[in-house]
Amino acid sequence: MLVKTNSPLQNTVDQIRTWARLNSIWAVHFNSGSCNGCDIEILALFTPLYDVERLGIKLQGSPRHADVLVVTGPVTRQARERLLRIYEQMPDPKFVISVGSCSISGGVFEGCYNVVGAVDEVIPVDVYIPGCPPRPEAVIDGVVQLLTHLKTEATK
Ligand code: SF4
Repeated sequence: MLVKTNSPLQNTVDQIRTWARLNSIWAVHFNSGSCNGCDIEILALFTPLYDVERLGIKLQGSPRHADVLVVTGPVTRQARERLLRIYEQMPDPKFVISVGSCSISGGVFEGCYNVVGAVDEVIPVDVYIPGCPPRPEAVIDGVVQLLTHLKTEATK
C-alpha cells in the first residue's frame, strides 16, 4: 500500500491556510423562508454591542468567497434551488450553520404547502443553533463550536 506524504513546504502551506481559516471566518447569510426574527439576531452580531468582526468573523456578500453558510428559516419551495445554488458556489471546505428552530425542523412552518422542510433536507448542516429566535450569544457559541471542531481536526 502506498502512503502519500506531503512535502515540508506543502505542510507549511496547509498550516498557514488552517491558521488563516480559524482566525478569519467569512460567512454568507441566506434567509430560506424565515419570518426575519432570526435574521435580526444575526444582524445584531455585527453591531458594536456584539462586534463579531473583532473575532475575524466577516459577513460576505458572495458565496464564492465564503467559508460558512448561515441559513435561517425553513426551506420554502421557492428558496430551495437558490439555497442549493449558493451552497454549490462556495469553495471547499465549506460549512453550514442552521440558525433557529425553523431551519432545524421546519418549526412553526412545518406542514405548510409551500415549505420543503428543514435545511438539512436540502444541504448538509454542520452546526445547529436552536431557539426562536436564538440570541446572538447562542449564534456566537455555535461559531465557536465550529472553530473548535476545525482546530481539533487540524491538529489530528
Ligand atoms: S425560529 Fe422563530 S424567529 Fe426564527 S424564523 Fe422561525 S419563527 Fe421566525
